[in-house]
Amino acid sequence: GAGSDLANVSTRAVRDGDIYRIEGQKIWTSMGAIADWCFVLARSEPGSKGRSGLSFLLVDMRQPGIDVRSIRQMTGDEEFAEVFFDGAVAQVRDRVGAEGEGWQVAMALLGFERGISTLAQQMHFRTELDEIIAAAVANGCSRDPLIRQRIARAHSGLAVMRVNALRMLASETPGPEALTYKLYWSRWHSDLGELAMDVLGQAAEVYDADGRPGALTNMHLMSRADTIYAGTDQIQRNLIAERGLGLPREARG
Ligand SMILES: Cc1cc2nc3c(=O)[nH]c(=O)nc-3n(C[C@H](O)[C@H](O)[C@H](O)COP(=O)(O)OP(=O)(O)OC[C@H]3O[C@@H](n4cnc5c(N)ncnc54)[C@H](O)[C@@H]3O)c2cc1C
Repeated sequence: GAGSDLANVSTRAVRDGDIYRIEGQKIWTSMGAIADWCFVLARSEPGSKGRSGLSFLLVDMRQPGIDVRSIRQMTGDEEFAEVFFDGAVAQVRDRVGAEGEGWQVAMALLGFERGISTLAQQMHFRTELDEIIAAAVANGCSRDPLIRQRIARAHSGLAVMRVNALRMLASETPGPEALTYKLYWSRWHSDLGELAMDVLGQAAEVYDADGRPGALTNMHLMSRADTIYAGTDQIQRNLIAERGLGLPREARG
């Protein structure tokens, strides 16, 4: 795996006629334990470096060459997995794009993942905010001027998100709006999680008999990951600077 430095990917795919054999591993694969298929960005050109020589492969996960190990997270769920590829087979016909040009495919995919694919979650965010407001009214927190300000800020932040979403929908391919959108919603949602905890107070720490947190506590715990997956906040800022504003590329060691 390569984390933020995706171009440094070391998982290899060796061509053998109509198939590739994949060797490598990837941690934090969302839904890895239940997925039937995954996509893999692997180095298919031996000796290549950086963004060139990578291929984007669709891989059947139900095969002997793949070992999936679930990771238990602090919410109690096991949503992620570490996936090991030990001679796993991908069909050449299941490659997306040309051989060695997987980087372009991955970047296009990430553009959608960071932007337009997340639009529906705004409705979910609205429901979460409404639950927080209801809790604040019920426990009297809504009379606290600082809590009221934070609720108002969350409400207006959601309105800003909606306007940005409309801008994204107006363009055919992910543009600069998508760059700022991920950074914006991930910060907004992390703040919402903290607001939920401050509104609920000690009640947030009451888990059910199965050791599971309530919905808002679960949301808060999950929101800690929002600023990491699909590119961390720091990486988003680099992208905004380089691709959105045309500033010089960051120094790389
Ligand atoms: C909930 C969740 C789901 C995920 N799902 C998937 C998945 O389905 N598939 C998958 O492949 N991956 C998945 N990931 C992995 C995710 O993409 C990586 O965690 C993320 O890209 C960061 O990589 P890293 O963890 O290796 O951290 P690192 O890259 O080691 O970064 C560590 C810290 O250094 C900072 N940093 C790194 N490089 C720079 C730089 N150039 N400039 C400034 N700061 C920098 C980062 O911002 C971060 O704060 C998931 C992660 C999470 C949390």
